[in-house]
Amino acid sequence: MDTDLAHAWLLAVASSVEADRERLTRLDAEIGDGDHGTNLHRGFTAVRAALEEIHPESVGRVLVTTGTTLISRVGGASGPLYGTVFRTAGKRLEAPECDVAELAAALSAGYEAVCALGSARVGDKTMLDALHPAVEALTAADPTGGLAAAARAAAEAARKGAEATVDLQARKGRASYLGSRSRGHLDPGAASTALVFGALADVTS
Ligand code: ADP
Ligand code: MG
Ligand code: MG
Repeated sequence: MDTDLAHAWLLAVASSVEADRERLTRLDAEIGDGDHGTNLHRGFTAVRAALEEIHPESVGRVLVTTGTTLISRVGGASGPLYGTVFRTAGKRLEAPECDVAELAAALSAGYEAVCALGSARVGDKTMLDALHPAVEALTAADPTGGLAAAARAAAEAARKGAEATVDLQARKGRASYLGSRSRGHLDPGAASTALVFGALADVTS
């Protein structure tokens, strides 16, 4: 991945969030407070503006700018959480380009940081249930297979991980207030994480 591709990735995430804004908000209305689509749309609109202003010299600068913007512009829990993923990953990618293994390691550090920040783990019905399998798929990808194949595998893993949150009971975030009534609904943060990796697959294909 080079700086231009990282830039294209985050702009594609912004477009996906815009297109799926109402779906994300509807999912959050079922088990939360009905603002996830609005929160992320506000955040990624600001990300798009921030990325238009900089001429990033590294992949990491694109990700750090994204993370910092999300932390400052999103009011909900998802802002600091996504912001931490992107900032932590970005700080590890200081070169103009990175390969699949470097991207996987950086996003894995982002995953660890968000686990620590939100004290959640896989199975708690959160964004982690999509982020973890996506990072695992990137990490396991054949390094000679190229970024497009790795991104496709990550997107598929995130999508399946998000889908599997339907059967889970929420143990973190607002949905946890519902107890067992949180079952039967897709977690909105896991759904938006699937969009993040879907966008990566789209821009690399
Ligand atoms: P809020 O809950 O403050 O309204 P959002 O609606 O934007 O924020 O985001 C909700 C999503 O954030 C949830 O669907 C879940 O995926 C994620 N989330 C909430 N708490 C945590 C946590 N502690 N760790 C990881 N993800 C979390
Ligand atoms: Mg919400
Ligand atoms: Mg809220």
